[in-house]
Amino acid sequence: MNRLIEFASSEAGVRLTAFFGVLAVMACWEAVMPRRKWTVRKLPRWTSNLSLVVLNTVVVRWIVRLTPVAAALWAHERGWGVLNRAAWPEWVKIIVGILALDLAIYLQHVMFHAVPALWRLHRVHHADLDFDVTTGLRFHTIEIVLSMLIKIGVVFVLGPSALAVLIFEVLLNATSMFNHANVALPETVDRLLRLVVVTPDMHRVHHSVVPRETNSNFGFNLPWWDFLLGTYRAQPAAGHQGMTIGLGQFRDERQADRLPGMLAMPILGTTGPYPLGSREDEDIPIATTASSGRGTAPAQPRGIARLFRPRGPGEE
Ligand SMILES: [Zn+2]
Ligand SMILES: [Zn+2]
Repeated sequence: MNRLIEFASSEAGVRLTAFFGVLAVMACWEAVMPRRKWTVRKLPRWTSNLSLVVLNTVVVRWIVRLTPVAAALWAHERGWGVLNRAAWPEWVKIIVGILALDLAIYLQHVMFHAVPALWRLHRVHHADLDFDVTTGLRFHTIEIVLSMLIKIGVVFVLGPSALAVLIFEVLLNATSMFNHANVALPETVDRLLRLVVVTPDMHRVHHSVVPRETNSNFGFNLPWWDFLLGTYRAQPAAGHQGMTIGLGQFRDERQADRLPGMLAMPILGTTGPYPLGSREDEDIPIATTASSGRGTAPAQPRGIARLFRPRGPGEE
């Protein structure tokens, strides 16, 4: 028990330091060299996005009361999970544990796009009218509770070490803030970097208003699952400057980027054309009030070969 408390307190220290460090670096970077102009006022939007983070942290602690790291220690003490029973070197178990957790998060993300009721929760993340470091932190409270329970379940079945879970949690949090940041990387750097980590240009495609683009690039950390499972899309059809961020049905700033509207979003309106497998998940126009009006995207080949396709003339 003492070990559990000791690990939990050092875990909180590591996680908080990494969180505020990466948040500060990315916020400064995007303030100095933004990739796109912000379309809505930043102060009320940031206040809402960050208030949701505080609310989620309090609610998750109150409801779940167990972190994935503590769950890993718990499982280890009882010999639960595949990796706790495997006679492999510790470093191999750590790598396998991190890879398997990342795959689980990828699959969970696809599930939140595929099941209409879960999409209603997850669309709070997508409805943000701008895309920056705070977008990577905004998720509906119920989605955060559900994903915490799923992650703890995966830890019990998989049996990764507490260290593997801590490395994974810090990495996921840092890469999520990095790849949601409104920053530009040189094209060559982006192309090389996205071989090993999801870059901002890669994840921005996932925040396009166009359903077929929303339903691609599900990775938050490692890009390999998108390459291997055919969900990779290199660039948005309208280009990074021309694309519209958000969802077609929530274009009002007071709805999409204020805390009360964000919390109520799961019970508002229909699921729209976004859930995976919707019949409308084709080239249909999306009504937006955004200036570009680019609501359609031509079909593009998918797969790892597209990784090496450079940005087109309209994609800068
Ligand atoms: Zn998503
Ligand atoms: Zn995102």
